[in-house]
Amino acid sequence: MRSLIFFLSIVLLSQVLLASEVNIYTSRHYDSDASLYSEFTDLTGIKVNIISGKGPALIERIKSEGVNSRADIFFTVDAGNLWKVQKEGLFQEIKSRSVLATVPENLRGPNNEWTAIAKRARVVFYNPQKVSREEIVDFAYEDLADGTWKNRVVIRSSSNMYNQSLVASLIANVGLERTENWAKGLVANFARKPQGNDRSQIMAVANGEADLAVANSYYFGMMLSGSAGEQQLEAAKKVRVLFPNQKSRGVHINISGAGILKYSPNSENGNRFLEFLLSPKVQKYMVDRSYEYPVLKQILPSPEITELGLGFKEDEISVKKFGELNPEAIRLMDRSGWK
Ligand code: FE
Repeated sequence: MRSLIFFLSIVLLSQVLLASEVNIYTSRHYDSDASLYSEFTDLTGIKVNIISGKGPALIERIKSEGVNSRADIFFTVDAGNLWKVQKEGLFQEIKSRSVLATVPENLRGPNNEWTAIAKRARVVFYNPQKVSREEIVDFAYEDLADGTWKNRVVIRSSSNMYNQSLVASLIANVGLERTENWAKGLVANFARKPQGNDRSQIMAVANGEADLAVANSYYFGMMLSGSAGEQQLEAAKKVRVLFPNQKSRGVHINISGAGILKYSPNSENGNRFLEFLLSPKVQKYMVDRSYEYPVLKQILPSPEITELGLGFKEDEISVKKFGELNPEAIRLMDRSGWK
């Protein structure tokens, strides 16, 4: 009897230890994520430990910790960043069947090393006071290089990953040569030297400094919600959004995503955490706060983003391409004089 009790308590103890925690390295910076994590703990009994930082710093940390790393999950934005970790061989395959069944293949790593958690569209913002309807009929990214837009376009610098991924998608879709000519044409159309973040490009269009801006969709939702302050709310009201390439391949889609690290001490918990992030309730909770698009088709984005219109065509090229072609994209942008 005593040995049975002893045996059972060992089983119980090991279960508690095994199910105890999940360590998440994240470059996402939403205060609201904290309540998500406690919900996961309530649901599963698994404690969530968060290490947050900038993407590149976290990647360095994971590398230097090597086999001793306690990190289970790396959660970040842009497929290009996930690619960097994958290239170092620092991810393991995601095993969760429900994750693999939920997320379309074009939004996962080559061997399921990482998965999209949410989507973002890189769209074009315009000033309706200065841009006529005819000018933007069937607008495509390719049109940003057209001479009619001389001194009218703003976009952030070429060192920004979002732009590198956009250029990589163009290389994949239309080829190196056409993309290079496009980049040169785009640079020639700049209203100013690239500066600031995505939101400051939208602000420049609202202020009349430029007529078109390229920026990620969720920044607009954030501005429109008023959570970023009165000035940004007023600016957002002055601009309109365009989803490029609706008559061709669709708008450029990038992701927020996560993977389970190779030396994860709690990979089982890691898989469960990814399942949690991709569950309907959590998807809704996240996109209502991040203004991204959900991965789950049945979930609506936030009201601000829903208002922009749904059912637009998305470029379904695999987001893995953005990592694969990232070095090529950087060199091309450099040759084109994109600062
Ligand atoms: Fe961003």
